[in-house]
Amino acid sequence: MPDAVQASVLGRTLRTVNEAANWVSEVAFEHGVPREYELRKHTYAELKARGLGAQAAQHTIKKVCDAYTTLKANIRAGNLGREDSRRRRRAESKPVVFRPEAAQPYDDRCLSWQYGQRTVSVWTVDGRVKNVPFVCSADALRMLQAYRQGESDLVERDGVFYLVATCDVPEAEQYEPDGFIGIDLGIVNIATTSTGYQAAGRGLNRYRKRQLALRAKLQKKRTKSARRRLKARARKEARHAANTNHIISKTIVTEAERTGRGLSLEELKGIRNRVRLRKPQRVALHSWAFAQLGDFVVYKAKRAGVPLVLVDPAYTSQTCAECGHVDKRNRVDQGLFICRGCGVVAHADRNASHNIATRGESVWNAGRESRVPATP
Ligand SMILES: [Zn+2]
Repeated sequence: MPDAVQASVLGRTLRTVNEAANWVSEVAFEHGVPREYELRKHTYAELKARGLGAQAAQHTIKKVCDAYTTLKANIRAGNLGREDSRRRRRAESKPVVFRPEAAQPYDDRCLSWQYGQRTVSVWTVDGRVKNVPFVCSADALRMLQAYRQGESDLVERDGVFYLVATCDVPEAEQYEPDGFIGIDLGIVNIATTSTGYQAAGRGLNRYRKRQLALRAKLQKKRTKSARRRLKARARKEARHAANTNHIISKTIVTEAERTGRGLSLEELKGIRNRVRLRKPQRVALHSWAFAQLGDFVVYKAKRAGVPLVLVDPAYTSQTCAECGHVDKRNRVDQGLFICRGCGVVAHADRNASHNIATRGESVWNAGRESRVPATP
């Protein structure tokens, strides 16, 4: 929450370091992306002459190196398509570019936190600026005070400044679980657990639809301001999705912790390939970020010491949790499961979550047996 004067200095600082980063990026590109120490030889003096302090100069060089490392890794992972794809050729044919308000890393020498006063003191192109107020939740403040470590990124988004701090939180010791909670993920019900919790997608999907309609309207306009509003809207949507995922994952992990149980989650690799959907649902699937929900459950479980296993989800929706009978026709429709073997009628997602719980339990037990040292 910088005041107007502080905000203008911070904005100018970000623009200066990112302009410098773009210049360093060009030098790196011309020299065939040399290593960090080599790049420093070519650029350090010039950066100092541009008014960057020693730390800021080094961070800028490192930022450029990291960006090229990330690009290389993305190319290797095939994220930019094949060798002859347009996207990949475009990425490889020119230097990496930084936006004027792109994130800049700060270490403790260039940025210090006064948690009690809720202020930071930060290096800028106009020297040190003190008493810049920040806001965060009470939980986040406790987390910062106890565990903040290493660098923080300063970034400007839609005219608002953010500090992204890194916290190194130790994992709690894992307890021996008394049974497992299975988690089934889906579109209509985002998450269903074998203990009866259900996060319905209805409200969320309605929100999505409204956003989609607004987006279509803006996309027609093709003006610069419409594009900017589109980007801001996309970020707002992503925040809404992340917030929802935080609430769902926290509810699930807290229940497991409270009841001393473990969590069993389906392995999410390839969910897009596995799930075949009609087109409108595909939109929902991508944006509802299942991978993120899975990640949130995993890290919250680790932090709380809740044992977690990932299981193969194959046939969990076609198998009867009561008798084990497997038949595609068991799942009558999206919500209804009627077993062709024993005739049991169940909620489809609830049935799947029970199967996932059972699988989790057996994966855990198999692992435990292999962990017990063999008797001589
Ligand atoms: Zn059955």
